[in-house]
Amino acid sequence: MNDAIQPGRPGVPERVTSLIAGERVAPKPGGHDLPVIYPATEQTVSLLREADADEVAAAVLAARDAFDRGPWPRMHVDERKDILYRVRDLLRVHADELVHLECLNTGIPVHHIRGHVTRMARNFEFFAEVASTVSGEAYTQAKGYLTYVTREPRGVAALIAPWNAPLALASMRVATCISFGNTCVLKPSEYTPLAVARMVEILHEAGLPPGVVNMVNGRGAVTGSALVSHPGIDMIGFTGGTHTGRAIMAAAGHDLKPCILELGGKSANIVTEHADLERALDGALLGIYANNGQQCLAGSRILVQRSVSEQFMARFVERTRRIRIGDPMQATTEIGPLCFAAHLERVLGYVEIAKADGAQLLTGGRRASGFEHGLYMEPTAVLAPANSARVCQEEIFGPFATFLVYDTIDDAIRIANESPFGLVSYIWSQDLGEVMRVSREVRA
Ligand code: NAD
Repeated sequence: MNDAIQPGRPGVPERVTSLIAGERVAPKPGGHDLPVIYPATEQTVSLLREADADEVAAAVLAARDAFDRGPWPRMHVDERKDILYRVRDLLRVHADELVHLECLNTGIPVHHIRGHVTRMARNFEFFAEVASTVSGEAYTQAKGYLTYVTREPRGVAALIAPWNAPLALASMRVATCISFGNTCVLKPSEYTPLAVARMVEILHEAGLPPGVVNMVNGRGAVTGSALVSHPGIDMIGFTGGTHTGRAIMAAAGHDLKPCILELGGKSANIVTEHADLERALDGALLGIYANNGQQCLAGSRILVQRSVSEQFMARFVERTRRIRIGDPMQATTEIGPLCFAAHLERVLGYVEIAKADGAQLLTGGRRASGFEHGLYMEPTAVLAPANSARVCQEEIFGPFATFLVYDTIDDAIRIANESPFGLVSYIWSQDLGEVMRVSREVRA
């Protein structure tokens, strides 16, 4: 594909609307539109028509009907698998188009998005396989009794996705749900609906029966909350921030709806004096700056052992200053713009928060120079005085690394565990005993 593609080319819809029972919903007069921007230019490239409670209810009804009366949950598992394989194949045919839309809407470098798009197609293949091989259980211990467990489709799911990897994460939710015969209403992030909306169309072009996957768009407080609290929803799958996850779980608890949450992190990336420091450096840079730093699994707290800390941080800063910031559509770009203006302001705000807590700015800390437009930020690193600093305890979700220096491996494990999050963790060491101990004792 052409890596220098420009926004505004044909194929970008003027307005993204809901897709219910396989049909795009025509926008009602007087509805609420939100701008969809290209973060590299801050231009509005499309509009999003926000779904109100009535439109959400129509989407739930379509998913309900597809589940209660439609063919999908009743199909032989092989028939569903065939359709999901066709979905995978057609998504691959449209890969360039999806890469373009995703890059246009997120500002994530195009070479990185290609990986997301590959994963999106694989998600449908993978879960089709899992669903066709999963088995029940039989309990035969008690003489005279045969107790068995079978797996049945559960019903209609509300699936809610974030903006940092829209296709990869929305497809993960959708594929896990529908492969097992469930139906759903998907709500992508209001910031990044473009590529996901096209993906949902392609699912239908590949032969998915109408009503199995429905999509509504809009802000969390309007469209999202109407969706999760709708009585026609049987279960909720959510990927997003911890704060939102708490609100969703509370709403789900009230209605006794099962709920799966994938939330934020402030993950420790531990570098010991026994590490191969060049490999650890590559891993640390990738861990915090890939995907424009907007990753749930970012290694955002880099814990370095004192004996190698000076050398490691100096090399990290040197490499960080050489990172190519720029047009996300160019194949050579390593960091693109952040996704939306309020997010850039929030991430930049952490520079002052870090300083107020006594942290030292090692590099970056400003909007990147040389761009007339676009939400560009210099990749940033600070050295925190202690793990209690806010930059060690709060998820920043941008190209913002926080270093901490530790003395012993006991300290590293304790610091890694002193966090309200528990998503992932990394260890760089050539000492196998050290690696095994950290992997056992760090709660991630
Ligand atoms: P967010 O929580 O602000 O929004 C996520 C989604 O929830 C959006 O679609 C939003 O519109 C919706 N939403 C917001 N309030 C809602 C409500 N009250 N009811 C229903 N829906 C609501 O998160 P974000 O800013 O889009 O994404 C970034 C966050 O996601 C980060 O914290 C990141 O770590 C996390 N994340 C986690 C994973 C994972 O797999 N663990 C993956 C990617 C991102």
